[in-house]
Amino acid sequence: MAEVKSDIEIARAASKKPVREVGEKLGIPDEHLLPFGHDKAKVSAQFIASVKGRENGKLILVTAINPTPAGEGKTTTTVGLGDGLNRIGKKTAICIREASLGPCFGMKGGAAGGGYAQVVPMEDINLHFTGDFHAITSAHNLLSALIDNHIYWGNALDIDTRRVTWRRVMDMNDRALREIVCSLGGVANGFPRQGGFDITVASEVMAILCLATDLEDLEKRLGEIIIGYRRDKSPVYARDLKADGAMAVLLKDALQPNLVQTLENNPAFVHGGPFANIAHGCNSVMATTTALKLADYVVTEAGFGADLGAEKFFDIKCRKAGLKPAAAVIVATVRALKMNGGVKKEDLGTENVEAVKKGCANLGRHIENVKQFGVPAVVAINHFHSDTAAEIEAVKAYVAAQGEEAVLCRHWAEGSAGAEELARKVVALAEGGASQFAPLYGDDMPLFEKIDTIVRRIYRGSEAIADKSVRAQLHQWEQQGYGHLPVCMAKTQYSFSTDPNLRGAPTDHVVPVREVRLSAGAGFVVAICGEIMTMPGLPKAPSAEKIFLNEAGYIEGLF
Ligand code: ADP
Ligand code: MG
Repeated sequence: MAEVKSDIEIARAASKKPVREVGEKLGIPDEHLLPFGHDKAKVSAQFIASVKGRENGKLILVTAINPTPAGEGKTTTTVGLGDGLNRIGKKTAICIREASLGPCFGMKGGAAGGGYAQVVPMEDINLHFTGDFHAITSAHNLLSALIDNHIYWGNALDIDTRRVTWRRVMDMNDRALREIVCSLGGVANGFPRQGGFDITVASEVMAILCLATDLEDLEKRLGEIIIGYRRDKSPVYARDLKADGAMAVLLKDALQPNLVQTLENNPAFVHGGPFANIAHGCNSVMATTTALKLADYVVTEAGFGADLGAEKFFDIKCRKAGLKPAAAVIVATVRALKMNGGVKKEDLGTENVEAVKKGCANLGRHIENVKQFGVPAVVAINHFHSDTAAEIEAVKAYVAAQGEEAVLCRHWAEGSAGAEELARKVVALAEGGASQFAPLYGDDMPLFEKIDTIVRRIYRGSEAIADKSVRAQLHQWEQQGYGHLPVCMAKTQYSFSTDPNLRGAPTDHVVPVREVRLSAGAGFVVAICGEIMTMPGLPKAPSAEKIFLNEAGYIEGLF
């Protein structure tokens, strides 16, 4: 086997076109591209407003089986499929999320795809990019500062300092900041209270930016953020602190989607990046709706497996933005299926057809689930060098027995040529017009019933359970007029259950809802099932230790 190049080596060798030419492919006039260097640009809000009346292209969701440390390659497949569709003559744009610095310096793994299916410039995309995450961090922390300042100057709003729910954020994995005491040091520094930091992608401001339809909507949502409660438990809003205007000012540029290109010079929107547990895990509505006006096909990715990512894409993003996906691609790898079939990571290199067959139960469940939303699906087998013919055949046979098709894809090794067959299949599904998309539950279903519906129909658990206090909280929000909101499930991405070690396709498990949180600005109720980390830590040997500038001034070690 020839020496395999690293993602960064391939990305650095890319022959990029000026971003102006990439914009031209979508008919974006030069004056409406706001360039950041030569290979990145924001698309102006005026241009976006001017194309609102156009027809939409076809929206394709890329989702996956439950993730394992073996890797599935959703982003890689999103990029490969986008290039594959362009290759067969369909004008296509892709829409993916921006990278968070935390994981970049923590665990190995970038956010720009891999192999010959990447978006570039990958170093920028994985690092500061166009500064959106910095803007979000600043807007979030402005509100934090205004809260403590308000309390300092007499607390006219009567905020209960024990019930401030708005924390601080930074874009770094730093476990030392999870729980802190702030305002220490005497009278001049305010009233000491317990606080803490979350990572920026977990900020409600991030979720808001990704769901906002324009600047006005953004500002309205920012005002609706609940920052905490009074002693009588009535909510205090960001607008009560007059924070919404200044926060919107900090975010006005960040709201405009970023345009870059794939290795094959096709347009790619990389914009927004909310967590897929505490938030909905999809790129921005602004980017997706704009891309749909400019391209015939838009391929987008949702985080984690289809139980979390696709469910939230359908029930939160599509519901709110009025999107109607035409087809879905479910990414599976032989390696991850083997792990779902019980094989340890160390043993993945050995052929094991029986384990593949066993792990297919996980895939089968996701196929059924996607179809529950009325969206036709195809399985993409993301090919790894170690896959054997018999293992691939086992996946194809299993999927065929479910009445669907699995297509072997080699975009990681071959670029668009390796995704041509998948692209043709996606076009057949999308143009067949079979999609009858509908969210899983209606707006008027009571909140706990929404949670229970997801548990039974998507996770195949027996029921959702919760303490009286959790149910009482949901009931109170219903009384306050939040009952119509969708729910955002925060549970482990590794299993249909709340036990990360229970792989495959478990049934009849009970899903306990430990806590509920209201993201009133984003417009969803978060149901926390199990331990969910909103500020990750770094591993014992973080990737940061291997990242450096070489003698030529190039970045090394960034995947
Ligand atoms: P996801 O979006 O599902 O998290 P990515 O597409 O980001 O996954 O891929 C995760 C990692 O796996 C990347 O570093 C990528 O280079 C690698 N990868 C993806 N597909 C393949 C493949 N077919 N062969 C080898 N490595 C791959
Ligand atoms: Mg990804």
